[in-house]
Amino acid sequence: MTDRSETDWAFDEEFAAALEAVPDDRFDPERFVPGVGPLSADVALVGEAPGKQEVKQGEPFVGQAGKQLDRALEAIGRERRDLYVTNLVKVRPPENRDPYVDEIEAWRPVLEAEIERVDPAVLVPLGSFATAELLETDETITDLHGRPIEREGRTVVPAFHPAAALYDRSKVDAVESDLRTALEAV
Ligand code: URA
Repeated sequence: MTDRSETDWAFDEEFAAALEAVPDDRFDPERFVPGVGPLSADVALVGEAPGKQEVKQGEPFVGQAGKQLDRALEAIGRERRDLYVTNLVKVRPPENRDPYVDEIEAWRPVLEAEIERVDPAVLVPLGSFATAELLETDETITDLHGRPIEREGRTVVPAFHPAAALYDRSKVDAVESDLRTALEAV
């Protein structure tokens, strides 16, 4: 298993101003999971929203999708602790449903603050929601994954969501190869 990050800074302090911008009805402290990892990371991964395990442990990507992410990172010889890992939406949607557009919009200022602060050379949206949001595109993840795209001074490499490889084993190699492309783009 890849070592997780040891966060030595506090999300609610670092991103206090942006968190203030999230409407109260979109902020539920009981279901909130902050981004983690070094603020100096060269690469930031952006998932969709936390699930049950993430809420339990207070960290993104620690459930089944996170285990798949760890396996992919291990296969390509990279450490999770070097990466900044966050989600579009920081509060777990009920019943694990997809995040609504207004939830993504409500949390957008926090994501923007994270990207500005971490200032990663490479940004990796994981899956279709994060890719659509970060690239403002209608093109599908199937078309875009693994293709580096220059955007506002950084390289965006959309990747299949690790959960996709849980449901469709033929995507295991694609998840690995997308992450390899992203991590080699630094
Ligand atoms: N866990 C997360 O933290 N984010 C996802 O997108 C999926 C699982």
